[in-house]
Amino acid sequence: MAAAVRARPFTATRPDSHIAIGQQRRCHQAGRGLAGLAPRAAAGDEECLAATSVSHTAQAVTSSSSTQFAQQHAAQPLADLAAAAPAAVPQADTAAAAAPLGLNPTTALLLGGAVLAGYGIKKVFDTPSRSYDQNVGQEYDAWTEEGVLEYYWGEHIHLGYYTEEERARGYKKKNFIQAKYDFIDEMFKWSGSDTPQKVLDVGCGIGGTSRFLAAKFPQASVTGITLSPNQVKRGTELAAERGLGNVKFQVMDALKMEFPDNSFDLVWACESGEHMPDKKAYVDEMVRVLKPGGTLVIATWCQREETPQTPFSESDRERLQFLYEEWAHPYFVSKEEYGRIMEGTGQLDNVATADWTAPTINSWRHSIWVGVWDPWIVVFKGPRIWYKTVREIVTLERMHRAFDDGLMEYGMMKAKKKAA
Ligand code: SAH
Repeated sequence: MAAAVRARPFTATRPDSHIAIGQQRRCHQAGRGLAGLAPRAAAGDEECLAATSVSHTAQAVTSSSSTQFAQQHAAQPLADLAAAAPAAVPQADTAAAAAPLGLNPTTALLLGGAVLAGYGIKKVFDTPSRSYDQNVGQEYDAWTEEGVLEYYWGEHIHLGYYTEEERARGYKKKNFIQAKYDFIDEMFKWSGSDTPQKVLDVGCGIGGTSRFLAAKFPQASVTGITLSPNQVKRGTELAAERGLGNVKFQVMDALKMEFPDNSFDLVWACESGEHMPDKKAYVDEMVRVLKPGGTLVIATWCQREETPQTPFSESDRERLQFLYEEWAHPYFVSKEEYGRIMEGTGQLDNVATADWTAPTINSWRHSIWVGVWDPWIVVFKGPRIWYKTVREIVTLERMHRAFDDGLMEYGMMKAKKKAA
């Protein structure tokens, strides 16, 4: 199925095709990544990155048989691969092929086995393990229960903000969690909202932002929605621990919100758009519940705008496909496309977009580093989590690379709802 979808060209800039693609991808299996996990795989930045670059240099081969092979093994321990790979080529063939090279049969078999195991491992790491299939809620439930994501990222499941000066000084000198609080501060300033009374946090995670805004504006009431019951539970616990009575969390689909029209004067969406199978419905719903005069602000990972002059290459598409599918994203769109969708509602004024790749890109490698410095939670969790963690490192590095070479952008969008 993945091969069939991958083989289908998509256009990032056509709203109707987004919806169609989003619907197609519902037939996949799902999960957005648990960034921030990093075992002691690396002793230094270069080594750590060299390890992950194995899977960059060799992009996914999209033949259906190899994809199926990798999919079947993607969720299994690597030990399975060692068993599976040699079986793919009869051992006698390997020995016969090696004879002209002057290798004895045992060496030939070992070499053949090693090559096949390497090939199998590369295949597994090139093949997304958690493609989108409307189970974002279950995936976040599992991550919340595991507790590893919260351990590293704290209460915020989004990138951090690093000023130019901090970047010049070296991002590792900045506190990883502080960077996330700074992000919210910067996003709030950029939104142009002043003192909101009713705030909606769309795709609230475990509610870091909702609590932050509830504490900052004690007179306001803040509501966070998510697809994950475990996130609601954890968010509610943390709010009670902090004595915050003006924030609440609910399980609710952002594409079908139960709130009446014109309910909130700040609608905030931070890194939830990536998971939405219909970006237009996402924006339309947020605009519907926004009060006239209210502020909508969205932060989300975007792919660059594709134009006839700057089409995606085959390799761009394969890289994007991996980034969609590894962490339960149906697809991304460009910030320009978000701008068009927002303008298209006819209900918004002052629509603006910005690219915040520069202040946020350090988060990817910083996520890897926090795990290198403190790997113990992962170490004690056992082989399943080790395997997941290695996959997360590969994906974090692939994300870094995509943002670094311009395939991806950090999209910021804002607007005010027109007066009634
Ligand atoms: N904004 C949060 C979390 C971002 S993680 C933070 O800054 O910490 C993405 C969140 O989006 C998760 O909580 C996930 O459950 C939520 N999400 C994804 N699709 C959603 C949907 N259709 N409706 C509501 N929430 C959704």
